[in-house]
Amino acid sequence: MDLLEHQAQELFAKHGVPVSRSRVATTPEEAYAAAAEIGGRVVVKAQVKTGGRGKAGGVRLADGPDAAREVADAILGMDIKGHTVHKVLITEAGDIDEEYYVSLLLDRSNRSFLALASREGGVEIEQVAAVNPAALARLQVDPDAGLGWEEALRLAYDAGLPDDVRDQVASVLVRLWNVCRGEDATLVEINPLAKLADGTVLALDGKVTLDDNARFRQPGHPQYVDVTATDPLEVRAAARNLNYVKLDGSVGVIGNGAGLVMSTLDVVAYAGEQFGGVKPANFLDIGGGASAQVMAGGLEIILGDPDVRSVLVNVFGGITACDAVADGIVQAIGMLNELGETVSKPIVVRLDGNNAPQGRKILAEAALPGVISSDTMDGAARLAAELAGKGA
Ligand code: GDP
Ligand code: MN
Repeated sequence: MDLLEHQAQELFAKHGVPVSRSRVATTPEEAYAAAAEIGGRVVVKAQVKTGGRGKAGGVRLADGPDAAREVADAILGMDIKGHTVHKVLITEAGDIDEEYYVSLLLDRSNRSFLALASREGGVEIEQVAAVNPAALARLQVDPDAGLGWEEALRLAYDAGLPDDVRDQVASVLVRLWNVCRGEDATLVEINPLAKLADGTVLALDGKVTLDDNARFRQPGHPQYVDVTATDPLEVRAAARNLNYVKLDGSVGVIGNGAGLVMSTLDVVAYAGEQFGGVKPANFLDIGGGASAQVMAGGLEIILGDPDVRSVLVNVFGGITACDAVADGIVQAIGMLNELGETVSKPIVVRLDGNNAPQGRKILAEAALPGVISSDTMDGAARLAAELAGKGA
């Protein structure tokens, strides 16, 4: 998960990386109040998860509260590379003398972290790497040993940083390592790390990517999930621990196993070409041991998607055999009907693998209206696509 600048700066501050005084604002009035509180000149910065905000006009100086309100009014609602600005950060404006670059990122292929530093910051670092590679110093960081003071100082030296800031930059690097380690970040970047006129070094920008796989041990991190930017169905699915991704078609897809579901998406899209370009509405993997409860939860999410016109349940029986899955489907539809969520969209079920005949028998005997069995994946996909095409 990528963080917004103000969230990244919050984590920086927590680990002692120097940042400017700042406040978040979502309206021009809040921007006015924030600027009044900070006092003096401020910078109004669009909070979007993309770089190049400066060039796009999303970072602007304001002389005081009135100007901050005006500038915030212009920036809020702006579109920067497809990201709408809902928040701005109002920061104390630093008097910049020089701009540097520092970052730490997970280097999977070397099973280590990579620390980067350059005396040429404030510009795109890819540009520096391409035009003047010597200006970008690198250092492998052993994740067990971490980044120590001496190594950090060495990196600052290799990056050609001036004597008077080397210690400060090294200290920032060590603290950035603590952000990586303590917050389970896979990327931390400061561009620019600025030297101000008074000689102090300050992070003026911040980029952090957190490792979602470590969320279980980071109780403070769920607050960073941007629910407004996530599809509401995905939010509901995540709350139920379902592996769901919303897509833009009309055939709801449920399967057990990520590989099976992915190939199901392909087969549906292929079959859908004959019916006016029908496509899958989602990815949903309910996993190997899907209980009736999980099946019900999955069906409820999919049936609750207004774009869905037909559903394809594609299950390959393994450890959880097809008869158990079929029982699950019958119970799930029963549960949904009881909840008053009448299942009116056609559901095509393909069962194969362990105990498939028994599973099909269970479905046949239940004779649920709208539930149609199909024995092959291609046949099931074709039928589901055709039904979705008709409903359109
Ligand atoms: P980005 O364009 O998305 O990387 O946004 P940045 O936060 O890096 O801001 C872009 C540029 O705005 C920086 O490189 C700085 O030159 C300038 N900037 C950011 N903060 C300040 C500040 O406090 N004072 C001044 N004078 N300029 C700033
Ligand atoms: Mn930047």
